[in-house]
Amino acid sequence: MQTISAQSAGSELSGRTAIVTGSTSGIGLGIAQAFAAAGMNVMLNGFGDPAEIERTRALLAGTYGVKVAYSAADMSKPADIAAMVTEARAAFGHVDILVNNAGIQHVEAIETFPPEKWDAIIAINLSSAFHATRAVVAEMKARKWGRIINIASAHGLVASPFKSAYVAAKHGIVGLTKTVALETAEFGITANAICPGYVLTPLVQKQIPETAKARGITEEQVIRDVLLHAQPTRQFVTTEQLGALAVFLCTGAAASITGTALPVEGGWTAQ
Ligand code: NAD
Repeated sequence: MQTISAQSAGSELSGRTAIVTGSTSGIGLGIAQAFAAAGMNVMLNGFGDPAEIERTRALLAGTYGVKVAYSAADMSKPADIAAMVTEARAAFGHVDILVNNAGIQHVEAIETFPPEKWDAIIAINLSSAFHATRAVVAEMKARKWGRIINIASAHGLVASPFKSAYVAAKHGIVGLTKTVALETAEFGITANAICPGYVLTPLVQKQIPETAKARGITEEQVIRDVLLHAQPTRQFVTTEQLGALAVFLCTGAAASITGTALPVEGGWTAQ
């Protein structure tokens, strides 16, 4: 992890407290780092090697001088999600910002798509956002301030073959975002979905061989002709770009942005 300098939003957001689900890796970790650099206290969550997670936690806290906690809550389990929110309140006093980011993927034709993968993807990529949002909104309404950021996907706006569960979950989270935005609009709360294109994280690295198998092509062809082909920039989106957007959505300058699905996908859905 490279250190990033404190951002200009830092003083405004200093002392805010955030939960970022699925932040032991990839996009969630990028957002957690950007939040810490902006002076926010962050609850990390996700799976991984406990020693490595503790190193990350201590590094973020030490580098940016903020409180960083960790919850091992499993986002497929509603009781774990409620416990994570309770732990965040115990660590920080309250929760200002919730980023629903945890997610998994499985790439396979629908006729052989394993039902248990469907259930897991809907639970982790969609239902967890419902459970976590449900647990924080009353407090945000009472405090008259809050930010809910759902990490959807370009696949929340358009489909690709062989990703039935993922595309369904991501379209679902865009709808959830709009509903939460309408319910909270008069309480100083915004709810937005960020819709990234391809980011070279472990989630994408894992689907390269799966996609090669599903389409009968090589892994090199998957990168060139499937992943980057979708994005007119022919560049992967970076976790730093997504972290900076998430920080912006937390600022006062973004207070009128709510109920949106913001594409960050190199022009993919403009086509
Ligand atoms: P990643 O695999 O690098 O990280 C996923 C994170 O979620 C990890 O911290 C992992 O431990 C955590 N996680 C997985 N299952 C969990 C569970 N049951 N409970 C708690 N945590 C769990 O993946 P990523 O690419 O950073 O993906 C993050 C989010 O961004 C996902 O929602 C994904 O759908 C979305 N997204 C990714 C891309 C991309 O190209 N990488 C594009 C669009 C959207």
